[in-house]
Amino acid sequence: MQILDGKKAAQAIKDKLKIDVASRAVEGKKVPHLAAILVGSNGASETYVAAKVKACEEVGFKSTLIRLEADISEMKLLDAIHDLNTNPDIDGILVQLPLPKHISDEKVINAIDADKDVDGFHPENVGKLLQGLPTFVPATPHGIMLLLEYYKIETKGKHAVVVGRSNIVGRPMSVLLSSNTNPGNCTVTICHSHTSNIKEFCLQADIIVAALGKPEFITADMVKEGAVIIDVGITRTEDATKKSGYKLKGDVAFDEVAPKCSWITPVPGGVGPMTIAALMKNTYRSCMQKN
Ligand code: NAP
Repeated sequence: MQILDGKKAAQAIKDKLKIDVASRAVEGKKVPHLAAILVGSNGASETYVAAKVKACEEVGFKSTLIRLEADISEMKLLDAIHDLNTNPDIDGILVQLPLPKHISDEKVINAIDADKDVDGFHPENVGKLLQGLPTFVPATPHGIMLLLEYYKIETKGKHAVVVGRSNIVGRPMSVLLSSNTNPGNCTVTICHSHTSNIKEFCLQADIIVAALGKPEFITADMVKEGAVIIDVGITRTEDATKKSGYKLKGDVAFDEVAPKCSWITPVPGGVGPMTIAALMKNTYRSCMQKN
């Protein structure tokens, strides 16, 4: 068993971006600028946004964090997005999800200028992804593809099982793995909460992408010898021994699954850092396209 080290692969991507950004700056060209909107003060969202802002600093991007109260009206949030859409200095906009219940995710995502939608959630970009056209690929599936590429994992002709069909992870992941690209060219099965025999599908998988948000759902008896395991799940579970009071758990029972597989991502340190690296790549791309 070998570890798919997301920290290492993400660092390599960020190091390359840092050099590219520095040379743009030397030439007097614009450096990428990412704007993040955080509504309320959800603990996990705070952590994710802070990590994104830190990554911007690391690679030499400008970043702007806009904090809004949890009870802000939908209209005011849409106004804030409009301001960023029309600000020529901003290359990428992200609104950290989840949003408070009184705000429609759909309206907010649709309000972001598709050319600045570095999260790749806007319907225009989703449509392009489905058609195999160049676009902003959602950061988590994009990061997973970059990780497979970094470790030269053979995907062509393999059977990939994606557990979870969300718009931000499972569904785009299934599109990317089945596309005529390298990595890609997999035969993909997508499972969800109504799939009656998930174990049977997983046992046939050369590659499993677990993205359902149920800690340690994938157990050793569901995994074929030599499979590649990508664990997307991050769930905070109480742990009194930790200073924070919690620990992060993936969707895969790592200790029992790891000995059976060829490659596996740890949690933390697997998909998480790759998601951020992919977001940085999307923001850089947006800046290049506009300038
Ligand atoms: P989500 O929107 O809640 O979607 C979960 C998906 O899993 C749904 O499609 C759901 O099926 C399916 N599912 C739930 N229970 C299931 C079960 N028992 N068996 C089979 N399928 C089941 O979650 P998400 O946003 O995709 O995130 C999934 C996990 O990844 C979460 O732990 C999240 O924190 C993590 N995540 C990590 C990163 C990262 O950077 N590492 C990024 C994003 C998300 P239905 O459609 O039928 O309801």
